[in-house]
Amino acid sequence: MVGSDKGRALVTGGSRGIGAAVVRRLAADGFAVILNYRSNEDAARAVQAEVQASGGEVTLCAFDVANRAATAQAIAGLLEDSRPISVLVNNAGVTADAAFPAMSAEQWDRVLQTTLNGFYHVTQPLIMPMVRRKYGRIINMSSISGISGNRGQVNYAAAKAGLLGATKALSLELAKRRITVNAIAPGLIDTEMVQGIPPEMAKAIVPMQRLGTPQEVAALVSFLAGNEAGYITGQVFRIDGGLG
Ligand code: NDP
Repeated sequence: MVGSDKGRALVTGGSRGIGAAVVRRLAADGFAVILNYRSNEDAARAVQAEVQASGGEVTLCAFDVANRAATAQAIAGLLEDSRPISVLVNNAGVTADAAFPAMSAEQWDRVLQTTLNGFYHVTQPLIMPMVRRKYGRIINMSSISGISGNRGQVNYAAAKAGLLGATKALSLELAKRRITVNAIAPGLIDTEMVQGIPPEMAKAIVPMQRLGTPQEVAALVSFLAGNEAGYITGQVFRIDGGLG
């Protein structure tokens, strides 16, 4: 398993959890993966070493997707490489949960800045290069919170629902250019983000009686990023063990 003739794939928030599984999977699929992370360099390097050991290609690119200027600078740097970025996985996300009456403006801003503004900051400069090539795959990591809402997550649900609207609108703008834009809405996936949820609770509330794995989400990303998914756009895929 080697080679990057499929072009490059940018995965935001690729140092841990779902993003790290997506990096591993897309590298195994033959993409030259660009792993974005914000602060955890050790974790990013560990994922890179693992992928390289199995013959895959991963480069690291640290920037905070919530920071407009830093993201613009980083993306401009990535676009200097002549190999096209044909796949973008907008995966970076954070939670800052609180009951709404107690939710601070900082909690509201942090979640919206990362998920929704981060989507704009990363995606917008990558569109014209995809349009010129008439090819692209954009996959946005939303959440079932963005579909059904969730107590204590008004900020997160608003951001993730916003991402679904953006997915649908952008898919319509880009369909005739052979660029697909889809969203994934995971339920409870076994990462640091859901560390507070005891296994017994997951068993009680999820019909499949377990948390999902990052690898299961990565398999769906892999399909949507591939050539065979070329007639699927503007869709939201739940992956939630029957929770919905
Ligand atoms: P984790 O908290 O395990 O990992 C988050 C990743 O995002 C890390 O790599 C982190 O990098 C990166 N990140 C966070 N903020 C930024 C930022 N501002 N700029 C760049 N990178 C950033 O999360 P999960 O793997 O659990 O979640 C991945 C995505 O899936 C998120 O969008 C999340 O909302 C969504 N999701 C997760 C679910 C779950 O059950 N786990 C359920 C539904 C949706 P660093 O470590 O360097 O900060």
